[in-house]
Amino acid sequence: MADTLSADVVVVGSGICGSLAARKLAREGASVLMLEAGPRIRRDDIVRAFRTSPRKGDLIAPYPYSSLAPHPDYHPEDNGYLLQQGPYPYKPEYLRVVGGTTWHWAAQAWRYLPNDFRIRSLYGVGRDWPISYDDLEPYYHEAEVLMGVSGPVNNGSPRAKPFPMEPVAPSYLEQRLMTRLAPEFEVITNTTARNSRAYDGRPACCGNNNCMPICPIDAQYHGGLAADAAEAAGVTLIPQAVAYKLEHDESGRITAVNYYDWDKVSHRVTAETFILAANAIEIPRLLFLSASDRFPDGLANSSGTLGRNLMDHPSSSITFNVDEDVWPGRGPQSPASIQKLRDGDFRSEHAPFRIDFSNSSRVTSITEDLIKAGYFGAALERELRARTAREISVKNVLEQLPDPDNRVMLADEKDALGLPKPLFSYSFDDYVHRGMAASRTAFERIAELMGGTDIRHSPEGKYSNNQHITGTLSMGADPADSVTDAVGRAHDHENLYMASTGVMPTVATCNSTLTGVALALRSADAILGRV
Ligand SMILES: Cc1cc2nc3c(=O)[nH]c(=O)nc-3n(C[C@H](O)[C@H](O)[C@H](O)COP(=O)(O)OP(=O)(O)OC[C@H]3O[C@@H](n4cnc5c(N)ncnc54)[C@H](O)[C@@H]3O)c2cc1C
Ligand code: SF4
Repeated sequence: MADTLSADVVVVGSGICGSLAARKLAREGASVLMLEAGPRIRRDDIVRAFRTSPRKGDLIAPYPYSSLAPHPDYHPEDNGYLLQQGPYPYKPEYLRVVGGTTWHWAAQAWRYLPNDFRIRSLYGVGRDWPISYDDLEPYYHEAEVLMGVSGPVNNGSPRAKPFPMEPVAPSYLEQRLMTRLAPEFEVITNTTARNSRAYDGRPACCGNNNCMPICPIDAQYHGGLAADAAEAAGVTLIPQAVAYKLEHDESGRITAVNYYDWDKVSHRVTAETFILAANAIEIPRLLFLSASDRFPDGLANSSGTLGRNLMDHPSSSITFNVDEDVWPGRGPQSPASIQKLRDGDFRSEHAPFRIDFSNSSRVTSITEDLIKAGYFGAALERELRARTAREISVKNVLEQLPDPDNRVMLADEKDALGLPKPLFSYSFDDYVHRGMAASRTAFERIAELMGGTDIRHSPEGKYSNNQHITGTLSMGADPADSVTDAVGRAHDHENLYMASTGVMPTVATCNSTLTGVALALRSADAILGRV
Protein backbone atom coordinates (compact mmCIF):
# COMPACT_ATOMS: atom_id res chain seq x y z
CA MET A 1 0.00 0.00 0.00
CA ALA A 2 1.44 3.39 -0.98
CA ASP A 3 0.38 6.95 -0.17
CA THR A 4 -3.00 8.39 0.89
CA LEU A 5 -4.15 11.45 -1.05
CA SER A 6 -7.02 13.76 -0.15
CA ALA A 7 -9.32 16.35 -1.76
CA ASP A 8 -12.73 17.94 -1.25
CA VAL A 9 -14.07 16.01 -4.22
CA VAL A 10 -12.71 12.93 -5.98
CA VAL A 11 -13.94 12.23 -9.51
CA VAL A 12 -13.40 8.76 -10.97
CA GLY A 13 -13.11 8.99 -14.76
CA SER A 14 -12.02 11.94 -16.93
CA GLY A 15 -14.55 11.55 -19.75
CA ILE A 16 -16.78 14.40 -20.86
CA CYS A 17 -19.23 14.00 -17.94
CA GLY A 18 -16.60 13.73 -15.19
CA SER A 19 -14.31 16.44 -16.56
CA LEU A 20 -17.05 19.04 -17.00
CA ALA A 21 -18.47 18.36 -13.51
CA ALA A 22 -14.92 18.53 -12.06
CA ARG A 23 -14.21 21.79 -13.88
CA LYS A 24 -17.39 23.38 -12.52
CA LEU A 25 -16.58 22.41 -8.92
CA ALA A 26 -12.94 23.55 -9.17
CA ARG A 27 -14.02 26.92 -10.53
CA GLU A 28 -16.17 27.32 -7.40
CA GLY A 29 -13.11 26.79 -5.18
CA ALA A 30 -13.29 23.06 -4.38
CA SER A 31 -10.09 21.01 -4.41
CA VAL A 32 -10.77 18.28 -6.96
CA LEU A 33 -8.75 15.18 -7.74
CA MET A 34 -9.64 13.22 -10.88
CA LEU A 35 -8.55 9.59 -11.28
CA GLU A 36 -8.32 8.28 -14.83
CA ALA A 37 -7.72 4.62 -15.69
CA GLY A 38 -6.12 5.31 -19.08
CA PRO A 39 -3.12 7.25 -20.38
CA ARG A 40 -2.89 10.80 -21.69
CA ILE A 41 -3.12 10.98 -25.48
CA ARG A 42 -2.44 13.74 -28.02
CA ARG A 43 -4.57 14.57 -31.02
CA ASP A 44 -1.63 14.67 -33.44
CA ASP A 45 -0.50 11.17 -32.37
CA ILE A 46 -3.99 9.80 -32.97
CA VAL A 47 -4.26 11.51 -36.37
CA ARG A 48 -0.87 9.99 -37.31
CA ALA A 49 -1.95 6.56 -36.06
CA PHE A 50 -5.15 6.82 -38.12
CA ARG A 51 -3.24 7.81 -41.28
CA THR A 52 -0.94 4.79 -41.00
CA SER A 53 -3.61 2.34 -39.81
CA PRO A 54 -4.43 -0.49 -42.23
CA ARG A 55 -7.86 -0.76 -40.48
CA LYS A 56 -9.40 2.59 -41.50
CA GLY A 57 -12.96 1.44 -40.82
CA ASP A 58 -12.16 0.42 -37.23
CA LEU A 59 -12.80 3.51 -35.11
CA ILE A 60 -10.84 2.23 -32.13
CA ALA A 61 -7.71 1.16 -34.06
CA PRO A 62 -5.80 4.50 -33.78
CA TYR A 63 -6.24 4.65 -29.99
CA PRO A 64 -3.77 3.06 -27.54
CA TYR A 65 -4.74 -0.15 -25.78
CA SER A 66 -3.50 -1.52 -22.46
CA SER A 67 -4.56 -4.72 -20.75
CA LEU A 68 -4.19 -2.76 -17.47
CA ALA A 69 -7.18 -0.55 -18.38
CA PRO A 70 -8.80 -2.64 -21.10
CA HIS A 71 -11.52 -1.41 -23.40
CA PRO A 72 -13.66 -3.58 -25.67
CA ASP A 73 -12.21 -4.19 -29.13
CA TYR A 74 -13.87 -6.33 -31.79
CA HIS A 75 -11.37 -6.15 -34.69
CA PRO A 76 -9.90 -8.23 -36.14
CA GLU A 77 -11.62 -10.34 -33.48
CA ASP A 78 -13.34 -9.79 -30.11
CA ASN A 79 -10.68 -9.21 -27.44
CA GLY A 80 -12.89 -10.92 -24.84
CA TYR A 81 -13.04 -8.03 -22.38
CA LEU A 82 -16.85 -7.86 -22.31
CA LEU A 83 -18.43 -11.26 -21.73
CA GLN A 84 -21.86 -12.24 -22.99
CA GLN A 85 -24.57 -14.32 -21.34
CA GLY A 86 -27.11 -13.68 -24.12
CA PRO A 87 -29.62 -14.23 -25.51
CA TYR A 88 -28.50 -11.29 -27.67
CA PRO A 89 -24.91 -9.98 -27.58
CA TYR A 90 -24.41 -6.44 -26.27
CA LYS A 91 -21.16 -5.13 -27.72
CA PRO A 92 -20.62 -1.47 -26.91
CA GLU A 93 -17.48 0.48 -27.79
CA TYR A 94 -15.74 2.79 -25.37
CA LEU A 95 -12.28 4.18 -24.75
CA ARG A 96 -10.23 4.25 -21.57
CA VAL A 97 -7.93 7.22 -22.10
CA VAL A 98 -7.81 10.73 -20.61
CA GLY A 99 -10.94 12.39 -22.03
CA GLY A 100 -12.79 9.10 -22.58
CA THR A 101 -14.96 7.85 -25.41
CA THR A 102 -15.96 11.14 -27.08
CA TRP A 103 -12.50 11.31 -28.69
CA HIS A 104 -14.12 9.19 -31.41
CA TRP A 105 -17.77 10.18 -31.36
CA ALA A 106 -20.05 11.67 -34.04
CA ALA A 107 -20.76 14.77 -31.85
CA GLN A 108 -24.54 14.66 -32.29
CA ALA A 109 -25.77 16.69 -29.32
CA TRP A 110 -29.55 16.53 -29.14
CA ARG A 111 -31.78 17.53 -26.28
CA TYR A 112 -34.58 15.17 -25.28
CA LEU A 113 -38.16 16.16 -26.07
CA PRO A 114 -40.26 17.26 -23.06
CA ASN A 115 -42.50 14.18 -23.45
CA ASP A 116 -39.47 11.86 -23.25
CA PHE A 117 -39.41 12.53 -19.49
CA ARG A 118 -42.99 11.23 -18.97
CA ILE A 119 -43.58 8.19 -21.17
CA ARG A 120 -45.17 6.14 -18.37
CA SER A 121 -47.74 8.89 -17.64
CA LEU A 122 -48.39 9.73 -21.29
CA TYR A 123 -48.13 6.39 -23.07
CA GLY A 124 -48.22 3.75 -20.32
CA VAL A 125 -44.77 2.36 -21.15
CA GLY A 126 -41.27 2.63 -19.60
CA ARG A 127 -40.67 4.96 -16.66
CA ASP A 128 -41.14 8.63 -15.82
CA TRP A 129 -38.10 10.62 -14.81
CA PRO A 130 -38.04 12.24 -11.36
CA ILE A 131 -37.31 15.57 -13.12
CA SER A 132 -38.90 17.38 -16.06
CA TYR A 133 -37.51 18.91 -19.23
CA ASP A 134 -37.86 22.34 -17.59
CA ASP A 135 -35.64 21.24 -14.68
CA LEU A 136 -32.90 20.33 -17.13
CA GLU A 137 -33.33 23.17 -19.65
CA PRO A 138 -30.80 25.60 -18.10
CA TYR A 139 -28.24 22.80 -17.81
CA TYR A 140 -28.76 21.82 -21.44
CA HIS A 141 -27.82 25.38 -22.34
CA GLU A 142 -24.80 25.37 -19.99
CA ALA A 143 -23.62 22.13 -21.63
CA GLU A 144 -24.19 23.51 -25.14
CA VAL A 145 -22.09 26.59 -24.40
CA LEU A 146 -19.24 24.48 -22.96
CA MET A 147 -19.35 21.94 -25.78
CA GLY A 148 -19.86 24.48 -28.58
CA VAL A 149 -23.12 23.15 -29.99
CA SER A 150 -24.53 24.34 -33.30
CA GLY A 151 -28.00 23.55 -34.54
CA PRO A 152 -31.21 24.62 -36.27
CA VAL A 153 -33.92 26.47 -34.34
CA ASN A 154 -36.65 24.06 -35.37
CA ASN A 155 -35.55 20.81 -33.75
CA GLY A 156 -38.49 20.02 -31.46
CA SER A 157 -36.92 20.81 -28.07
CA PRO A 158 -37.97 24.21 -26.64
CA ARG A 159 -35.12 26.55 -25.69
CA ALA A 160 -34.92 29.63 -23.49
CA LYS A 161 -31.77 30.87 -25.23
CA PRO A 162 -30.47 30.48 -28.80
CA PHE A 163 -27.87 27.89 -29.81
CA PRO A 164 -24.30 29.12 -29.30
CA MET A 165 -23.79 28.74 -33.07
CA GLU A 166 -25.68 28.53 -36.36
CA PRO A 167 -25.77 25.04 -37.95
CA VAL A 168 -22.82 23.81 -39.98
CA ALA A 169 -23.40 24.52 -43.71
CA PRO A 170 -25.24 21.61 -45.37
CA SER A 171 -23.26 19.29 -47.62
CA TYR A 172 -24.43 18.63 -51.18
CA LEU A 173 -25.92 15.26 -50.15
CA GLU A 174 -27.82 16.97 -47.33
CA GLN A 175 -29.19 19.61 -49.70
CA ARG A 176 -30.43 16.96 -52.12
CA LEU A 177 -32.07 14.97 -49.30
CA MET A 178 -33.79 18.11 -48.01
CA THR A 179 -35.14 18.96 -51.44
CA ARG A 180 -36.22 15.53 -52.63
CA LEU A 181 -37.74 14.27 -49.37
CA ALA A 182 -39.52 17.58 -48.60
CA PRO A 183 -42.94 16.45 -49.85
CA GLU A 184 -43.18 13.88 -47.03
CA PHE A 185 -40.26 14.23 -44.63
CA GLU A 186 -38.66 17.32 -43.15
CA VAL A 187 -34.89 16.70 -43.11
CA ILE A 188 -33.10 18.95 -40.63
CA THR A 189 -29.42 19.62 -40.01
CA ASN A 190 -28.23 17.73 -36.96
CA THR A 191 -27.56 19.48 -33.69
CA THR A 192 -23.86 18.83 -33.10
CA ALA A 193 -20.93 19.82 -30.89
CA ARG A 194 -19.17 21.00 -34.04
CA ASN A 195 -18.05 24.53 -34.82
CA SER A 196 -19.78 26.33 -37.67
CA ARG A 197 -17.42 29.26 -36.96
CA ALA A 198 -14.32 29.80 -34.85
CA TYR A 199 -15.44 29.19 -31.26
CA ASP A 200 -13.68 28.78 -27.92
CA GLY A 201 -10.20 28.91 -29.49
CA ARG A 202 -11.02 26.18 -32.02
CA PRO A 203 -11.55 26.54 -35.80
CA ALA A 204 -14.69 26.07 -37.90
CA CYS A 205 -15.43 22.67 -39.44
CA CYS A 206 -13.76 22.46 -42.84
CA GLY A 207 -15.78 19.47 -43.98
CA ASN A 208 -13.04 16.87 -44.40
CA ASN A 209 -15.28 13.98 -43.24
CA ASN A 210 -13.00 12.44 -40.61
CA CYS A 211 -15.20 13.13 -37.55
CA MET A 212 -14.90 9.47 -36.48
CA PRO A 213 -12.34 8.31 -35.43
CA ILE A 214 -10.85 11.79 -34.91
CA CYS A 215 -11.44 15.35 -36.04
CA PRO A 216 -7.92 16.41 -37.09
CA ILE A 217 -8.48 20.10 -36.28
CA ASP A 218 -10.64 19.98 -33.11
CA ALA A 219 -13.59 21.63 -34.86
CA GLN A 220 -15.55 18.95 -33.02
CA TYR A 221 -15.66 19.03 -29.20
CA HIS A 222 -14.49 15.98 -27.21
CA GLY A 223 -13.66 14.85 -23.69
CA GLY A 224 -9.93 15.52 -24.14
CA LEU A 225 -10.79 19.24 -24.38
CA ALA A 226 -13.04 18.87 -21.31
CA ALA A 227 -10.16 17.27 -19.35
CA ASP A 228 -7.85 20.13 -20.43
CA ALA A 229 -10.46 22.64 -19.23
CA ALA A 230 -10.76 20.83 -15.89
CA GLU A 231 -6.99 20.97 -15.36
CA ALA A 232 -6.91 24.65 -16.36
CA ALA A 233 -9.54 25.26 -13.65
CA GLY A 234 -7.26 23.67 -11.04
CA VAL A 235 -8.29 20.00 -11.05
CA THR A 236 -5.46 17.54 -10.32
CA LEU A 237 -5.67 14.70 -12.85
CA ILE A 238 -3.91 11.39 -12.19
CA PRO A 239 -3.76 9.23 -15.33
CA GLN A 240 -3.17 5.46 -15.32
CA ALA A 241 -5.09 5.21 -12.04
CA VAL A 242 -7.62 2.35 -12.13
CA ALA A 243 -10.19 2.73 -9.34
CA TYR A 244 -11.10 -0.71 -8.02
CA LYS A 245 -12.75 -0.32 -4.62
CA LEU A 246 -14.70 2.24 -2.61
CA GLU A 247 -14.71 2.19 1.19
CA HIS A 248 -17.56 3.34 3.47
CA ASP A 249 -18.18 3.95 7.15
CA GLU A 250 -20.92 2.54 9.41
CA SER A 251 -23.47 5.08 8.19
CA GLY A 252 -22.83 4.21 4.53
CA ARG A 253 -20.90 7.41 3.77
CA ILE A 254 -18.11 6.82 1.29
CA THR A 255 -14.73 7.46 2.91
CA ALA A 256 -12.12 6.49 0.30
CA VAL A 257 -11.46 5.14 -3.16
CA ASN A 258 -8.59 2.76 -3.85
CA TYR A 259 -6.85 2.63 -7.21
CA TYR A 260 -4.06 0.67 -8.89
CA ASP A 261 -1.40 2.49 -10.84
CA TRP A 262 -0.03 0.69 -13.89
CA ASP A 263 2.69 -0.98 -11.76
CA LYS A 264 -0.20 -2.48 -9.77
CA VAL A 265 0.72 -0.46 -6.68
CA SER A 266 -2.42 0.38 -4.70
CA HIS A 267 -3.17 3.96 -3.60
CA ARG A 268 -5.92 5.35 -1.38
CA VAL A 269 -7.71 8.68 -1.82
CA THR A 270 -10.03 10.23 0.76
CA ALA A 271 -12.56 13.02 0.17
CA GLU A 272 -15.76 14.63 1.41
CA THR A 273 -17.62 13.90 -1.81
CA PHE A 274 -17.14 11.27 -4.52
CA ILE A 275 -18.31 11.44 -8.12
CA LEU A 276 -18.25 8.30 -10.25
CA ALA A 277 -17.84 9.21 -13.93
CA ALA A 278 -16.23 6.05 -15.31
CA ASN A 279 -19.13 5.41 -17.79
CA ALA A 280 -22.38 3.50 -17.54
CA ILE A 281 -20.65 0.09 -17.60
CA GLU A 282 -17.49 0.66 -15.58
CA ILE A 283 -19.38 2.51 -12.77
CA PRO A 284 -21.69 -0.43 -11.93
CA ARG A 285 -18.66 -2.70 -12.22
CA LEU A 286 -16.79 -0.58 -9.62
CA LEU A 287 -19.83 -0.55 -7.32
CA PHE A 288 -20.17 -4.35 -7.54
CA LEU A 289 -16.41 -4.68 -6.91
CA SER A 290 -16.86 -2.60 -3.75
CA ALA A 291 -19.30 -5.04 -2.09
CA SER A 292 -18.76 -5.26 1.68
CA ASP A 293 -20.26 -7.11 4.66
CA ARG A 294 -22.74 -4.26 5.08
CA PHE A 295 -23.52 -4.06 1.33
CA PRO A 296 -23.01 -7.62 0.07
CA ASP A 297 -24.70 -7.01 -3.32
CA GLY A 298 -22.51 -4.02 -4.12
CA LEU A 299 -22.68 -0.37 -3.12
CA ALA A 300 -25.68 1.75 -4.16
CA ASN A 301 -27.65 -1.44 -4.73
CA SER A 302 -30.21 -1.76 -1.92
CA SER A 303 -32.90 -1.63 -4.67
CA GLY A 304 -31.26 -4.52 -6.54
CA THR A 305 -31.40 -2.39 -9.72
CA LEU A 306 -27.68 -1.56 -10.03
CA GLY A 307 -26.50 -2.52 -13.54
CA ARG A 308 -30.07 -3.40 -14.62
CA ASN A 309 -32.33 -1.63 -17.13
CA LEU A 310 -29.40 -1.35 -19.54
CA MET A 311 -30.49 0.46 -22.69
CA ASP A 312 -28.97 1.64 -25.94
CA HIS A 313 -30.42 2.65 -29.30
CA PRO A 314 -30.96 -0.42 -31.46
CA SER A 315 -30.61 0.37 -35.16
CA SER A 316 -31.25 -1.18 -38.52
CA SER A 317 -30.35 0.39 -41.85
CA ILE A 318 -31.08 0.58 -45.54
CA THR A 319 -28.49 1.12 -48.28
CA PHE A 320 -29.31 2.01 -51.89
CA ASN A 321 -28.09 3.86 -54.95
CA VAL A 322 -29.68 7.27 -55.58
CA ASP A 323 -30.70 8.07 -59.17
CA GLU A 324 -28.32 11.06 -59.31
CA ASP A 325 -24.78 11.80 -58.11
CA VAL A 326 -24.99 13.00 -54.47
CA TRP A 327 -21.32 12.60 -53.45
CA PRO A 328 -21.36 11.28 -49.87
CA GLY A 329 -18.06 11.87 -48.07
CA ARG A 330 -17.97 15.67 -48.28
CA GLY A 331 -18.75 17.56 -45.05
CA PRO A 332 -19.41 16.02 -41.61
CA GLN A 333 -20.16 12.31 -41.36
CA SER A 334 -23.52 12.65 -39.52
CA PRO A 335 -25.15 15.71 -41.07
CA ALA A 336 -28.93 15.41 -41.00
CA SER A 337 -31.95 13.50 -39.78
CA ILE A 338 -35.74 13.17 -39.74
CA GLN A 339 -37.38 13.95 -36.41
CA LYS A 340 -41.11 13.60 -36.91
CA LEU A 341 -41.35 10.00 -35.65
CA ARG A 342 -39.71 10.73 -32.28
CA ASP A 343 -43.02 11.30 -30.50
CA GLY A 344 -46.73 10.60 -30.82
CA ASP A 345 -49.55 8.44 -29.43
CA PHE A 346 -48.07 5.47 -31.31
CA ARG A 347 -45.50 5.31 -28.49
CA SER A 348 -47.97 3.24 -26.50
CA GLU A 349 -47.71 0.58 -29.27
CA HIS A 350 -44.21 0.69 -30.70
CA ALA A 351 -40.83 2.32 -30.31
CA PRO A 352 -40.44 5.86 -31.64
CA PHE A 353 -37.38 6.59 -33.77
CA ARG A 354 -35.20 9.13 -35.43
CA ILE A 355 -33.94 8.53 -38.97
CA ASP A 356 -30.31 9.43 -39.44
CA PHE A 357 -28.47 9.93 -42.75
CA SER A 358 -24.85 8.89 -42.99
CA ASN A 359 -22.50 11.04 -45.06
CA SER A 360 -19.40 8.91 -44.51
CA SER A 361 -17.19 8.26 -47.49
CA ARG A 362 -18.04 4.82 -48.87
CA VAL A 363 -14.90 4.41 -50.99
CA THR A 364 -13.29 1.72 -48.81
CA SER A 365 -16.35 -0.52 -48.40
CA ILE A 366 -17.39 -0.22 -52.06
CA THR A 367 -13.83 -0.98 -53.24
CA GLU A 368 -13.76 -4.09 -51.06
CA ASP A 369 -17.16 -5.21 -52.38
CA LEU A 370 -16.16 -4.66 -56.01
CA ILE A 371 -12.87 -6.54 -55.67
CA LYS A 372 -14.69 -9.40 -53.98
CA ALA A 373 -17.13 -9.42 -56.91
CA GLY A 374 -14.21 -9.83 -59.35
CA TYR A 375 -13.86 -6.27 -60.73
CA PHE A 376 -10.39 -5.07 -61.74
CA GLY A 377 -8.68 -2.56 -64.08
CA ALA A 378 -10.79 -0.01 -65.96
CA ALA A 379 -14.06 -1.71 -65.01
CA LEU A 380 -13.17 -1.43 -61.31
CA GLU A 381 -12.40 2.27 -61.66
CA ARG A 382 -15.56 3.00 -63.65
CA GLU A 383 -17.84 1.13 -61.25
CA LEU A 384 -16.12 2.62 -58.19
CA ARG A 385 -16.61 6.17 -59.44
CA ALA A 386 -20.26 5.53 -60.23
CA ARG A 387 -21.17 3.83 -56.96
CA THR A 388 -19.26 6.08 -54.57
CA ALA A 389 -21.13 9.07 -56.01
CA ARG A 390 -24.55 7.48 -55.50
CA GLU A 391 -24.62 4.89 -52.71
CA ILE A 392 -26.08 6.15 -49.42
CA SER A 393 -26.96 4.56 -46.11
CA VAL A 394 -29.79 5.53 -43.78
CA LYS A 395 -30.29 4.19 -40.25
CA ASN A 396 -32.96 4.41 -37.59
CA VAL A 397 -32.34 5.10 -33.88
CA LEU A 398 -35.04 3.46 -31.75
CA GLU A 399 -36.12 3.90 -28.16
CA GLN A 400 -35.66 0.71 -26.14
CA LEU A 401 -37.67 0.43 -22.91
CA PRO A 402 -36.01 -0.28 -19.55
CA ASP A 403 -36.04 -4.02 -18.77
CA PRO A 404 -34.48 -5.25 -15.51
CA ASP A 405 -33.26 -8.42 -17.28
CA ASN A 406 -31.02 -6.35 -19.56
CA ARG A 407 -28.04 -5.86 -17.33
CA VAL A 408 -24.33 -5.67 -16.67
CA MET A 409 -22.89 -7.94 -13.95
CA LEU A 410 -19.49 -9.23 -12.88
CA ALA A 411 -18.04 -12.27 -14.65
CA ASP A 412 -15.90 -14.93 -12.98
CA GLU A 413 -13.14 -14.24 -15.51
CA LYS A 414 -10.64 -11.52 -14.51
CA ASP A 415 -8.63 -8.85 -16.33
CA ALA A 416 -4.85 -8.32 -16.08
CA LEU A 417 -5.22 -6.49 -12.74
CA GLY A 418 -7.19 -9.43 -11.33
CA LEU A 419 -10.54 -7.55 -11.43
CA PRO A 420 -13.66 -9.42 -12.65
CA LYS A 421 -14.66 -8.45 -16.20
CA PRO A 422 -18.13 -7.10 -17.11
CA LEU A 423 -20.75 -9.69 -18.12
CA PHE A 424 -23.93 -8.83 -20.06
CA SER A 425 -27.42 -10.24 -20.34
CA TYR A 426 -29.36 -8.51 -23.14
CA SER A 427 -32.34 -8.87 -25.48
CA PHE A 428 -35.03 -6.87 -27.32
CA ASP A 429 -38.78 -6.92 -26.75
CA ASP A 430 -41.69 -6.62 -29.19
CA TYR A 431 -41.86 -2.85 -28.61
CA VAL A 432 -38.53 -2.61 -30.44
CA HIS A 433 -39.45 -5.18 -33.11
CA ARG A 434 -42.69 -3.32 -33.89
CA GLY A 435 -40.79 -0.01 -34.08
CA MET A 436 -38.35 -1.61 -36.53
CA ALA A 437 -41.27 -2.71 -38.72
CA ALA A 438 -42.70 0.84 -38.72
CA SER A 439 -39.34 2.32 -39.63
CA ARG A 440 -38.93 -0.14 -42.50
CA THR A 441 -42.01 1.44 -44.11
CA ALA A 442 -40.38 4.88 -43.75
CA PHE A 443 -37.07 3.55 -45.14
CA GLU A 444 -38.78 2.20 -48.23
CA ARG A 445 -40.58 5.46 -48.89
CA ILE A 446 -37.30 7.39 -48.53
CA ALA A 447 -35.62 5.05 -51.03
CA GLU A 448 -38.56 5.52 -53.41
CA LEU A 449 -38.44 9.34 -53.18
CA MET A 450 -34.68 9.25 -53.89
CA GLY A 451 -35.17 7.00 -56.92
CA GLY A 452 -33.33 4.23 -55.07
CA THR A 453 -32.11 1.07 -56.81
CA ASP A 454 -30.16 -1.95 -55.55
CA ILE A 455 -31.96 -1.61 -52.19
CA ARG A 456 -30.37 -3.55 -49.32
CA HIS A 457 -31.88 -3.81 -45.83
CA SER A 458 -29.68 -4.82 -42.89
CA PRO A 459 -30.45 -8.41 -41.77
CA GLU A 460 -33.88 -8.71 -40.14
CA GLY A 461 -33.78 -9.13 -36.36
CA LYS A 462 -30.08 -8.21 -36.15
CA TYR A 463 -29.74 -4.76 -34.70
CA SER A 464 -26.63 -2.62 -34.20
CA ASN A 465 -26.24 -0.62 -31.02
CA ASN A 466 -25.17 3.02 -30.95
CA GLN A 467 -22.99 3.26 -27.82
CA HIS A 468 -25.64 5.30 -25.98
CA ILE A 469 -25.28 3.34 -22.76
CA THR A 470 -28.04 4.26 -20.32
CA GLY A 471 -30.17 2.98 -17.44
CA THR A 472 -27.62 1.06 -15.35
CA LEU A 473 -27.63 3.76 -12.61
CA SER A 474 -31.22 4.93 -13.17
CA MET A 475 -32.44 7.95 -11.26
CA GLY A 476 -35.85 7.75 -9.64
CA ALA A 477 -38.00 9.16 -6.87
CA ASP A 478 -38.37 5.76 -5.17
CA PRO A 479 -35.20 4.25 -3.60
CA ALA A 480 -36.84 0.82 -3.94
CA ASP A 481 -36.59 0.84 -7.73
CA SER A 482 -33.73 3.17 -8.64
CA VAL A 483 -30.02 3.61 -7.92
CA THR A 484 -29.77 7.40 -7.81
CA ASP A 485 -32.05 10.28 -6.85
CA ALA A 486 -33.14 13.28 -8.91
CA VAL A 487 -29.69 14.90 -8.65
CA GLY A 488 -27.70 11.75 -9.45
CA ARG A 489 -26.82 10.96 -5.84
CA ALA A 490 -26.85 7.31 -4.69
CA HIS A 491 -29.93 6.71 -2.54
CA ASP A 492 -27.75 4.59 -0.24
CA HIS A 493 -24.70 6.88 0.17
CA GLU A 494 -25.24 10.55 0.93
CA ASN A 495 -21.86 11.74 -0.47
CA LEU A 496 -21.72 9.57 -3.62
CA TYR A 497 -22.80 11.00 -6.99
CA MET A 498 -22.85 9.54 -10.51
CA ALA A 499 -21.95 11.76 -13.49
CA SER A 500 -22.91 9.48 -16.33
CA THR A 501 -25.41 8.67 -19.05
CA GLY A 502 -26.13 5.64 -16.83
CA VAL A 503 -28.42 7.75 -14.59
CA MET A 504 -30.87 8.30 -17.47
CA PRO A 505 -33.94 6.11 -16.73
CA THR A 506 -35.12 6.07 -20.37
CA VAL A 507 -33.11 6.37 -23.57
CA ALA A 508 -35.61 8.22 -25.88
CA THR A 509 -34.53 8.63 -29.51
CA CYS A 510 -31.52 10.89 -29.41
CA ASN A 511 -27.84 10.45 -28.63
CA SER A 512 -27.30 10.53 -24.90
CA THR A 513 -24.16 12.57 -24.20
CA LEU A 514 -25.59 16.10 -24.09
CA THR A 515 -28.23 14.93 -21.60
CA GLY A 516 -25.54 13.10 -19.59
CA VAL A 517 -23.41 16.25 -19.41
CA ALA A 518 -26.42 18.43 -18.48
CA LEU A 519 -27.27 16.01 -15.64
CA ALA A 520 -23.62 16.00 -14.48
CA LEU A 521 -23.59 19.82 -14.36
CA ARG A 522 -26.83 19.68 -12.34
CA SER A 523 -25.23 17.17 -9.94
CA ALA A 524 -22.31 19.59 -9.52
CA ASP A 525 -24.83 22.31 -8.62
CA ALA A 526 -26.39 19.93 -6.06
CA ILE A 527 -22.95 19.37 -4.49
CA LEU A 528 -22.57 23.17 -4.35
CA GLY A 529 -25.95 23.35 -2.56
CA ARG A 530 -27.72 25.09 -5.45
CA VAL A 531 -30.35 22.45 -6.32
C1 LIG B 1 -18.24 5.49 -32.20
C2 LIG B 1 -19.04 6.26 -31.20
C3 LIG B 1 -19.82 7.33 -31.64
C4 LIG B 1 -20.58 8.05 -30.70
N1 LIG B 1 -21.31 9.13 -31.15
C5 LIG B 1 -22.07 9.82 -30.28
C6 LIG B 1 -22.80 10.95 -30.70
O1 LIG B 1 -22.77 11.35 -31.87
N2 LIG B 1 -23.53 11.61 -29.77
C7 LIG B 1 -23.60 11.21 -28.49
O2 LIG B 1 -24.34 11.82 -27.70
N3 LIG B 1 -22.89 10.16 -28.05
C8 LIG B 1 -22.12 9.46 -28.91
N4 LIG B 1 -21.37 8.40 -28.46
C9 LIG B 1 -21.46 8.04 -27.03
C10 LIG B 1 -20.54 8.91 -26.18
O3 LIG B 1 -19.20 8.68 -26.54
C11 LIG B 1 -20.77 8.59 -24.69
O4 LIG B 1 -22.13 8.87 -24.38
C12 LIG B 1 -19.90 9.46 -23.79
O5 LIG B 1 -18.54 9.23 -24.04
C13 LIG B 1 -20.19 9.17 -22.31
O6 LIG B 1 -19.38 9.99 -21.55
P1 LIG B 1 -18.86 9.55 -20.11
O7 LIG B 1 -18.04 10.66 -19.59
O8 LIG B 1 -20.02 9.10 -19.29
O9 LIG B 1 -18.00 8.22 -20.37
P2 LIG B 1 -16.62 8.03 -21.16
O10 LIG B 1 -16.48 9.00 -22.24
O11 LIG B 1 -16.59 6.59 -21.54
O12 LIG B 1 -15.52 8.33 -20.08
C14 LIG B 1 -15.34 7.52 -18.94
C15 LIG B 1 -13.92 7.69 -18.45
O13 LIG B 1 -13.75 6.94 -17.24
C16 LIG B 1 -12.52 6.25 -17.28
N5 LIG B 1 -12.59 5.07 -16.44
C17 LIG B 1 -13.23 3.90 -16.70
N6 LIG B 1 -13.05 3.03 -15.69
C18 LIG B 1 -12.30 3.66 -14.76
C19 LIG B 1 -11.78 3.27 -13.50
N7 LIG B 1 -12.02 2.06 -12.97
N8 LIG B 1 -10.99 4.15 -12.82
C20 LIG B 1 -10.71 5.38 -13.33
N9 LIG B 1 -11.19 5.79 -14.53
C21 LIG B 1 -11.99 4.95 -15.24
C22 LIG B 1 -12.34 5.91 -18.76
O14 LIG B 1 -10.99 5.65 -19.05
C23 LIG B 1 -12.87 7.17 -19.43
O15 LIG B 1 -11.88 8.14 -19.60
C24 LIG B 1 -20.58 7.68 -29.34
C25 LIG B 1 -19.78 6.60 -28.91
C26 LIG B 1 -19.01 5.91 -29.82
C27 LIG B 1 -18.17 4.77 -29.34
S1 SF4 C 1 -15.95 17.30 -41.16
FE1 SF4 C 1 -15.67 16.32 -39.17
S2 SF4 C 1 -13.48 15.87 -39.13
FE2 SF4 C 1 -13.75 17.41 -40.70
S3 SF4 C 1 -13.42 19.39 -39.66
FE3 SF4 C 1 -15.63 18.94 -39.65
S4 SF4 C 1 -15.92 17.96 -37.66
FE4 SF4 C 1 -13.73 17.85 -38.09
